[in-house]
Amino acid sequence: MGLLVVGSVAFDSVETPFGKAEDALGGSATFFSTSASYFTDVSLVAVVGDDFPEKHINFLKTRKIDLKGLQRTEGKTFRWKGKYGYDLNEAHTLSTELNVFESFKPKIPAEYKDAEVVFLANIDPDLQRDVLGQVKKPKIVAADTMNFWIEGKRDSLIKTLKLVDILLINDSEARQLSGEPNLVKAARKIAAYGPKTIVIKRGEHGVLMFHKESVFSAPAMPLEDVFDPTGAGDTFGGGFMGYLSSVMDWSENNMRKAIIMGSVMASFNVEDFSLNRIKNLEYSEIEARYREFKKLAHFEDI
Ligand code: AMP
Repeated sequence: MGLLVVGSVAFDSVETPFGKAEDALGGSATFFSTSASYFTDVSLVAVVGDDFPEKHINFLKTRKIDLKGLQRTEGKTFRWKGKYGYDLNEAHTLSTELNVFESFKPKIPAEYKDAEVVFLANIDPDLQRDVLGQVKKPKIVAADTMNFWIEGKRDSLIKTLKLVDILLINDSEARQLSGEPNLVKAARKIAAYGPKTIVIKRGEHGVLMFHKESVFSAPAMPLEDVFDPTGAGDTFGGGFMGYLSSVMDWSENNMRKAIIMGSVMASFNVEDFSLNRIKNLEYSEIEARYREFKKLAHFEDI
C-alpha cells in the first residue's frame, strides 16, 4: 500500500497582489494528496461538511486518491482565509474556521491499518496522533504543522513530534517552535523533540534538509510568474513523500532527490490559484522541470 495522509480538506479564500480566489478547493491534505498522486497510491483521511460539492470529490477521484477515509458529516467544511503582500513567503491568516474538524473522530478503514508510510499533514496534533495510533506498524512517519497549532496546541504537538521520523516545517515556524532564530540551531533543537530529519521550507529561497550531521540545500525554481503560494508547502510535501513512498528507499541520497521532486511540484503549484496548476499535470512537464532543477545548481570544478 502507498501513502496514508490525514490533514485538512478546506475552502480557501485567498488574496495576493495578483488576484484573489473565493472558497476555492484547498486544505493541507488536498494539496498533499494531489501532488503525491503523481508518484504513488494515496489514501486520504479527513472530514468535509454537507456543503462540500461533488465536483471536488470527483476531482480527487480523477487523481485516483482513495477516499474511503474521507467522511462527510452535517455542518460546514473547514474554511481558511489568508492574504499575502508582495513578500509571498509570508501568509497572513485572516480567519480559520475548523467547523466539522472540531468534532471529527477519525476511524480509519481496516485496510489502512497496515500502512507503511504515514503523512500527518498540517492539522490538530491530537488528530494527527489519533490517526497514527490506528496504524499498526508504520515504517516511516512524517508530519507538517503551522503557527496556528504551535501557538494553540504546543504540548500536544510536542507529543506528536515524539512519534515522527521526518518533520516538514517552514522557516518562521521552525523558529517559533524551537524559540531559536538560527535555523541550524533550530533544527538541532527540533530533532531533540523526536524527528531525525528536519526539512525546512523557505519559500522562494528553497529548502534545507537536516539529516543526522549533514545539511542539504536546494534552491527554489526562479519563476517569472508567481500568483499564489497557498499550498506550496503541502504540494512540496506531496512530491517529497510521494516519490519516497514509490521507491521505499530512505537513504540520504534518495531523500535529496525527493527534496527536488517536492520542489518541482511546489514550483508548479505557485503558478496559479488553488490546485489549478497541479490538478492535471503531464508527466513530461514534471520530468522537464526536474531536468531544469538539475541544471539550476550544477557546477563543476575547473
Ligand atoms: P501551505 O502549504 O502552508 O500554504 O498551506 C495552505 C493550506 O493549509 C490551505 O489550503 C489551508 O486550507 C490549510 N490550512 C490553513 N490553516 C490551517 C490549519 N490551522 N490547520 C490545517 N490546515 C490549515
